Amino acid sequence: MGKILATMGSILPLPLFRRPPVDEPVQGFPPATGRRAEMHISAEEVDLYARRRVSDDRRSEVEAHIAVCSICRSKIAVALEFSNALTQLQREMADMRDGHRIPTDDPATLEVLNHTSPDEREVRIRDVSKGGMCLRISKPIDRGTQVKVKRGAVISLGEVRYCIPVGDMFHAGILLREVV
Ligand SMILES: [Zn+2]
Repeated sequence: MGKILATMGSILPLPLFRRPPVDEPVQGFPPATGRRAEMHISAEEVDLYARRRVSDDRRSEVEAHIAVCSICRSKIAVALEFSNALTQLQREMADMRDGHRIPTDDPATLEVLNHTSPDEREVRIRDVSKGGMCLRISKPIDRGTQVKVKRGAVISLGEVRYCIPVGDMFHAGILLREVV
């Protein structure tokens, strides 16, 4: 299990959420409107602020600066978006990992929705939890893939959030969007 978690940890900095460069050359430098506008927030501090890891004092200084500096304001906005998306994803993965899961070994059909040609495969459902399920599949599937899982008469729609190799098979975590 430790190895699996380590694998999952290493796939976390996902291409979808690639951190944009925060240190790119500044263009269109605005006229300074105060001492603070001249001292831009460092990339490191933008990151810490977005992850809510700055002291209260420093936080108010950062906020005073971004009130007058559009460059740093947009850097902070991008970093916050990244940080929130990552937090959300980590929470979902933790839920799927640690949440109350009901083990099954039900056969099901997995259909890839955002695919040009029909792609249906037979899979096994390992477990289901509130809002998610884990499938055992023979071929890997890309993260972000929209899928339809048919189990008997129950059709679930969701998105692949992770896919990790386990032995000669793969485990794919599906975040369910809708069950019909
Ligand atoms: Zn600035």
